[in-house]
Amino acid sequence: MQKIDSEIIYSLKGIVGPNNYIDDTKKIDPYVKDIWGQYNGTTPLVLRPISTDMVSEIVTLCNNNNIGIVPQGGNTGLVGGGVPSDSGMEILISMDKMNAVCDIDAVNYTMTVEAGCILSEVQDAAFSANRLFPLSLGAEGSCQIGGNLSTNAGGTAVLRYGNAKELVLGLEVVLPNGTIYDGLRRLRKDNTGYDLKQLFLGSEGTLGIITKAVLKLFPLPEDKVTSLVALSSLEAAPRLLSSLREITGDNITAFEYMDRACLDILETHTDLSDPFSEKYSHFALVELTSSRVDANLYDLLERTFKTTIDDGSVVDAVVASSESQATQLWKMREMLPEVYRLEGGGLTFDISVPVSSVPEFINRSTKLCNQSYDKGVVLTFGHIGDGNVHFIFMKPRDVNMDDFLSETKNISNIMYDTAAEFNGSFSAEHGVGVYKKNELEIYKSKVELSLMKTLKRSIDVNNIMNPNKVV
Ligand SMILES: Cc1cc2nc3c(=O)[nH]c(=O)nc-3n(C[C@H](O)[C@H](O)[C@H](O)COP(=O)(O)OP(=O)(O)OC[C@H]3O[C@@H](n4cnc5c(N)ncnc54)[C@H](O)[C@@H]3O)c2cc1C
Repeated sequence: MQKIDSEIIYSLKGIVGPNNYIDDTKKIDPYVKDIWGQYNGTTPLVLRPISTDMVSEIVTLCNNNNIGIVPQGGNTGLVGGGVPSDSGMEILISMDKMNAVCDIDAVNYTMTVEAGCILSEVQDAAFSANRLFPLSLGAEGSCQIGGNLSTNAGGTAVLRYGNAKELVLGLEVVLPNGTIYDGLRRLRKDNTGYDLKQLFLGSEGTLGIITKAVLKLFPLPEDKVTSLVALSSLEAAPRLLSSLREITGDNITAFEYMDRACLDILETHTDLSDPFSEKYSHFALVELTSSRVDANLYDLLERTFKTTIDDGSVVDAVVASSESQATQLWKMREMLPEVYRLEGGGLTFDISVPVSSVPEFINRSTKLCNQSYDKGVVLTFGHIGDGNVHFIFMKPRDVNMDDFLSETKNISNIMYDTAAEFNGSFSAEHGVGVYKKNELEIYKSKVELSLMKTLKRSIDVNNIMNPNKVV
């Protein structure tokens, strides 16, 4: 990578114009730190282009001069992918000014948006056209659709609608040599060779900069039921999910697991309280939706409860009787990433295994972690309807973080080895970035790694696009 001399900085500023760059160190600061303050980098220049042509000009200049580029969306990523290194030899392209909704085609059930649109604004624009854009996650008020597609974000509705990459029909991307790949098609069928857009979905800005996307829309839900269910055991969770899928005709949109420790720390740090009078140990937050007004989801939920109380899986449940009660139940799940940090934090893992293996995976990992360090508390929650477990090995309150980290050095290996035994993934939805580069080298097969590196080398010949991230 080349040091960025003042002449290049001058030319880059000239491309975007005086209102679209930041070179003041203080103002650059929020762009070079991630949301939880875990990654810190540096850059001499943040560019905020306002058109695809502008992005293309910037990238061409950087490619010709071997200058590294870090694309950034809402900067809510959790693996350091959108933060520059501390070399000072990379410029940062923030997509925040490319935030237009270009088109909504309600009959085709599609919308075309610029990459810098905030996710909640994409949802709102779809809603105003009487359509649903179903991607939904805790960071939706600040993450951008370009970031969501680049990380293949998951979230709470994957069970029904799939990950971000399943919600895309077309893409426009500026490639690492500055060429614009225009794949903005609104087609549901197009078998004309390789599906090129898939290369950029989930590649964390290492193969190009996504500038626009055609997204799939769906009918708005007309009926919805939200319930917090107390389960007799962890093993009961996949059994309840399976019954819900059968009895509701797959009208289940979300199935989020939380354990007792989650409810305890929510009660300590928020005004949210356990809605049950008894202290249960396992919970599922369940949401059913249908675009049919006559779907009778409440009745279907009751029928499922009858079956699952009879087979001993469900012991109690509260069903939201208003939108505000449903919001309160969701708040419990959504506050967890913040609340475990308030509790003191710990080691966090974003693992996926087959849904049917989730209980065995959690039980085995908990046992092995506790054997290795007996003072830690395990906290588990997550989108387990998709087999995605957020497993947190919490630091005890009276131990300082440095001591905790030095005494728990082998916990990561335990977790990733255990996930591998279940043929699981070491990063279910947060990606690789810089945080999980080593794991990629260890847990991907030689063939997969070699294919990834070949693709990277052939598309980004000078290795300028988000260098040293992922591969
Ligand atoms: C409270 C909270 C809850 C979260 N919940 C979830 C969840 O449920 N599911 C989930 O999957 N994630 C979740 N995340 C993680 C994060 O929100 C997602 O990864 C999100 O998709 C990142 O979007 P962003 O716009 O913030 O991207 P950034 O953080 O800015 O960037 C992420 C990566 O994408 C690249 N990138 C960004 N924009 C572009 C572009 N236009 N073109 C090319 N590359 C680009 C960056 O270089 C970087 O590698 C959560 C985070 C927080 C803080």
